[in-house]
Amino acid sequence: MARYTGAVCRLCRREGQKLFLKGERCYSEKCSIAVRAYAPGQHGQGRKKSSEYGLQLRAKQKARRFYGVQEGQFRHYFEIAERKQGVTGENLLKILESRLDNVVYRVGFASSRAEARQLIGHGHFEVNGSRVDIASYLLKAGDVIAICEKSKALEKMKGVVEANASRPAPAWIDVDKDKCEAKIIALPERDQIDAPVEEQPIVEFYSK
Ligand code: SF4
Repeated sequence: MARYTGAVCRLCRREGQKLFLKGERCYSEKCSIAVRAYAPGQHGQGRKKSSEYGLQLRAKQKARRFYGVQEGQFRHYFEIAERKQGVTGENLLKILESRLDNVVYRVGFASSRAEARQLIGHGHFEVNGSRVDIASYLLKAGDVIAICEKSKALEKMKGVVEANASRPAPAWIDVDKDKCEAKIIALPERDQIDAPVEEQPIVEFYSK
């Protein structure tokens, strides 16, 4: 399935919720959800009626869009989550949270997950001392993520880190903003994951 290239704010409006896909703008008055709090399109303001399937589909789409994961990859994560011990929905969220692009965004080394993907693709990050340019790279407890030495000096990277300095990092990651590095203490428990995602309908969606 091709990557979505349309206006990303439409995705938030479709889900009726901020998904924080655009960095700084998401925290400003210009946020489209604040300006037009209804679904996009001709019938966006019409009556909403959803079947059980429709609700499950929306929960899955919302999670996919929030983390910026394509359908095939998302299903693959679900299959891994299902095979693991424990609660499938929670396993799925843990996998999504452990993606490198998510962690780079969470610790404030990018303004959005989309920007994190771009910066990773351009080779600005390393994991445990080795350069990694795969945004979907899955991290584990003990891994150390850092901005590459050369990239730290770039005005672009300095600007991004400075702009996001006040955004708090989650408790499961230890961040050293001066060194531009972060260590995964442990993968998060469900109550440590701040995401507008309901995992149970997603499990039901894929379990049909
Ligand atoms: Fe979503 Fe951000 Fe656009 Fe607001 S500004 S609608 S949160 S992407």
